[in-house]
Amino acid sequence: MTEDIAIDLGTANTLIIHNDKVVIDSPSIVARDRVTGKIIAVGKEASMMQGKTHENIKTIRPLKDGVIADFDASEKMISMFIKSIPALKKKMFTPALRMVVCIPSGITEVEMRAVKESCERVNGKEVYLIHEPMAAAIGIGIDIMQPKGNMIVDIGGGTTEIAVIALGGIVCDKSVKIAGDVFTNDIIYYMRTQHNLFVGETTAEKIKIQVGSATDQLETPPDDMSVQGRDLLTGKPKQVEVSFREIAKALDKSIQRIEDAVMETLSQTPPELAADIYNTGIYLAGGGSMLRGLDKRISLKTDLPVYIAEDPLKAVVRGTGMALKNIPKFRSILIK
Ligand code: ADP
Ligand code: MG
Repeated sequence: MTEDIAIDLGTANTLIIHNDKVVIDSPSIVARDRVTGKIIAVGKEASMMQGKTHENIKTIRPLKDGVIADFDASEKMISMFIKSIPALKKKMFTPALRMVVCIPSGITEVEMRAVKESCERVNGKEVYLIHEPMAAAIGIGIDIMQPKGNMIVDIGGGTTEIAVIALGGIVCDKSVKIAGDVFTNDIIYYMRTQHNLFVGETTAEKIKIQVGSATDQLETPPDDMSVQGRDLLTGKPKQVEVSFREIAKALDKSIQRIEDAVMETLSQTPPELAADIYNTGIYLAGGGSMLRGLDKRISLKTDLPVYIAEDPLKAVVRGTGMALKNIPKFRSILIK
């Protein structure tokens, strides 16, 4: 008896599909006890400890910048997520697994092997890896085997992956370390320098989601948000109001760098494929693509239509799941 599972091993979130359903959707975080070295929590549980740990507990994001920062932690994370799949948890032994795992394109051969070996150690009998832009394209519903160029921009937590895909291959691509995490840090920096307010990562991420914007011109702007933190001058807790316009200012430089990377990839695209992209436009995926006005801004910059994938946080795992269901069709793009 073999069970099939598809994993999107993201820098911010790990998602797993089993029997056509997303059964795991958790932050890619582990918490380790510094004294014993043991991993004490993964996923949501570990994420709640973030920023609130004492000196004996450390939270780690093993894939934070699109590279594996901590091999041991990433292996424990993969294995704990697999073991917590509800249908497998009931079984006495982990069944033999056939799996397709989506990895950030920036990771090295050594890191790829490490991911594969980690999967094999949790009883992965047949393990395939797939590159993120490919999985995203499949998940968006693009027929990647066609002799037609498509551009995908996947804005995740640690990296933005830009790729032009045609005939089942990546024609040109670029991976930049400017994505959701950098946006969050931009907000922390902005609050500190403009409001003398010290906010943590969790608060900054909330600001990004509630009033985040890529432009100061939104058709349906969100209401201002009250933000609490610590006043840097007095040391006392205080509250300030922030508007989407301020966040647009805070994020402007980072978004410009993403725009530049998109432009650069377009300029490296062979002319025939560029002609296709002129007609098909650019597809956005990943959590970062949900930033208000980002699609419009990229569209203005490139003069191309820009579409956001349906449920962009799940596009990659959806595509990985589709590859898993039809391994013979996608054999040429799966890495054994
Ligand atoms: P990864 O594939 O690297 O794990 P995801 O595609 O899961 O990344 O995206 C996670 C990122 O998306 C995080 O930085 C998160 O803050 C960001 N994000 C999620 N929702 C939104 C939103 N509504 N607006 C802006 N950013 C968002
Ligand atoms: Mg991703």
